[in-house]
Amino acid sequence: MKRTTLRQALGPASFVLVVLACWFASGLVADRMVQQELDTALRQQRQMSASIVYNMAEVIASDLAMSRAIPATMAELGVIQQALTHSQNYAASGVDLEPAHREELLKSPELAGINGFLRDAQGFSGLDIIWLVNANGLCVAASNAQNAHSFVGIDMRSRSYLTNALLGAFGEAYGVGRMSGEPGIFISAPVYDDGLLVGAIVAKVGIARLRHWVAHAGTFVTDDNGVIIMAHNAALEGQAMPNSRVTQMKPAERMSTYHRVQFPAVQIQPVKSQVRGDAPWVPADIADQLYDMPSQPIPTLYQSRSGLNSGLSAHLVDPLVAWPELMRNHKRDHLLVFLTLAGTVALAWVITVSYLRERRHHRATRVLAEQLQSANTLLSAEARHDALTGALSRRYFLDLLRHEIERARATGEPLCMAIADLDHFKQINDRFGHAAGDRALEHFVDTCRTALRGSDAIGRLGGEEFGILLPDTPLGTGLEVVERLRVRLKTMPSTKLPQSVGLSVSIGITELSAEDLPERIISRADQALYAAKQGGRDRSEAVPPDDTAPPARAPVNAW
Ligand code: GH3
Ligand code: MG
Ligand code: MG
Repeated sequence: MKRTTLRQALGPASFVLVVLACWFASGLVADRMVQQELDTALRQQRQMSASIVYNMAEVIASDLAMSRAIPATMAELGVIQQALTHSQNYAASGVDLEPAHREELLKSPELAGINGFLRDAQGFSGLDIIWLVNANGLCVAASNAQNAHSFVGIDMRSRSYLTNALLGAFGEAYGVGRMSGEPGIFISAPVYDDGLLVGAIVAKVGIARLRHWVAHAGTFVTDDNGVIIMAHNAALEGQAMPNSRVTQMKPAERMSTYHRVQFPAVQIQPVKSQVRGDAPWVPADIADQLYDMPSQPIPTLYQSRSGLNSGLSAHLVDPLVAWPELMRNHKRDHLLVFLTLAGTVALAWVITVSYLRERRHHRATRVLAEQLQSANTLLSAEARHDALTGALSRRYFLDLLRHEIERARATGEPLCMAIADLDHFKQINDRFGHAAGDRALEHFVDTCRTALRGSDAIGRLGGEEFGILLPDTPLGTGLEVVERLRVRLKTMPSTKLPQSVGLSVSIGITELSAEDLPERIISRADQALYAAKQGGRDRSEAVPPDDTAPPARAPVNAW
């Protein structure tokens, strides 16, 4: 990626996009994490609330079974059966005759004994009232007969809880006492005497005695019609379950059973939409299981068990205790996952950028190294060659000379060395200019290249003086070679120089002797050159190898 493209890609807009993507992704992860916590919390609490409702149902069932057992047992007692048989003459004949009936019934010595019996039974059984109703629907005896508001003499035909019993079946229903105004469970059992239905025995268990049914917070009990008859939160009592049967009942019917007409619907609603708004991470199937009650600030679980005795149902509204913590956890997890993710992305970004930078740097270093190497190559080539003529440099020529001497010694081959000096070169410079002198130097080296072998070497020793090395060449042959070179220079002038430049060269040549050092062979070649100059120039002179011969003159240049 080019640097500009990278910068563009990592510009502010991309940064915002990356942050948003991290935030979104971390939200998904946090959703998953908290969903699992919610699932566990919900499962545990549902188990708990199910067991609470189950226990509640068990308590209701056992309490009512006990209460039911009393009238059922008493219905079998002869005294009860006889008392009802004997009271068959009293007919229920409306409200007007009730005081008269009451007076008459209370006077009856037979029934007075029964009243006492019922009072004792009520005292032992823990029931609120027990009373007898004859087959005509008239209350003939009661455990509270002496009480001014007792049922004795009352026409009870309109009491719904009696309907079943007077038809010969067991009855059990919730209701509100018309006279006392106290709610309770009314249990009625038919009484037979010699196979004839002679009336019913009725018992009432006041709701106050059963308060322990709703001991647990959030519990409440509804009757067959969906009316809340008792609740841990007393404010709910008298409310009705949404769309329950009580809403279909006529006002008169409601009045007769409950002594009231209005039954506001209890506010228990699925909270799906609200929960999804507050906590969109809650899965729809779980949100469906949560409910909202105005009295509860957090979503609740709702459990119920219907079809209990007396048409009762047990209910529990249980706030999801883990909810506030889950909401906090979701926020915390979202933030933590975001920080982790953003940190990872930042780290990856730093690593990528560093890597790209490093690669760029590496590439630049490599290019630099290549440039340096080629510069070095060029420099060393320049160091080995004379810039003007392209002949070997003086230093390189002397190295080569040493090398060739060793080689010749090793192989036993002869080696010739010559020194060539252009004649009257100063005059060429003076007459034709320095540039012409340079051309003359170039021309001499070109001529050498043409005249000599590839294995021969020519080096510029200084000024217009050149060294020539002829490997594997004896002195006789060497002299012929340099002579041929001298003649060629003379007969084939440079086209770049004026015709009048008469370029000639003097050459001195010698051969390597057995004991020669580089200085000695150079000295002898120089001696030969001197002889050539002395001999009139434009000639070649040879000095044979002589290990003892000292140099004839000191070399012009210090070797
Ligand atoms: P001789 O025949 O005795 O060798 O006489 P000469 O004039 O050739 O010798 P001398 O040593 O007196 O002069 C050499 C001249 O070569 C002197 C110098 O200016 C000239 N020279 C040396 N190097 C260069 C060069 O690179 N280019 C040119 N154009 N002239 C050079
Ligand atoms: Mg010279
Ligand atoms: Mg010269």
